[in-house]
Amino acid sequence: MSRETAFIGLGSNLDEPGEQLRQALEALGQLPRTVLTAHSAFYTSDSLLAGQPRYTNAVAALSTELHPLELLDSLQAIESGQGRVRKERWGPRTLDLDIILYGQQLIDEPRLKVPHYHLHARAFVLYPLAELVPADFVLPDGRALNELLAACPLIGLEKL
Ligand code: ATP
Ligand code: MG
Ligand code: MG
Repeated sequence: MSRETAFIGLGSNLDEPGEQLRQALEALGQLPRTVLTAHSAFYTSDSLLAGQPRYTNAVAALSTELHPLELLDSLQAIESGQGRVRKERWGPRTLDLDIILYGQQLIDEPRLKVPHYHLHARAFVLYPLAELVPADFVLPDGRALNELLAACPLIGLEKL
């Protein structure tokens, strides 16, 4: 069974977001065949949609033997367990867990696209991810993380 490093983006803007993230990190640490190896600081960011509460965000690093779709199922189970209700897309939520990267794999399946499609435009993903990888980190599709950081405005992102 092969083991991969997966980076998970965490976000919450309902029901005590910091507490939601702490609980989610605990749940990630208890996934089968998985070790939570690191997580970033917590950040707050403006919602992508106007009029919603600010988000709390972080990125976690997992060392996992779960296959990508097994990992996605596990993440969605954690979201549901923390009261995530799927109504409108990008609506406020207690917890969002996205697979940002899964080793060096490029995944393009109906349920799962990795690297996360909007990674490059999201300061609340790029900055916490940068805490967890070397400065010269290159994404599996060839993009250098430091170039994505330089091109991504920091507007509204605050490190806690
Ligand atoms: P966004 O994808 O813009 O961050 P979101 O996280 O709010 O929006 P969700 O409602 O959490 O979107 O997920 C919608 C669907 O996205 C999920 O059911 C899942 O199948 C799919 N998906 C595709 N790629 C990924 C990924 N890398 N991580 C998590 N879900 C993904
Ligand atoms: Mg998301
Ligand atoms: Mg999601």
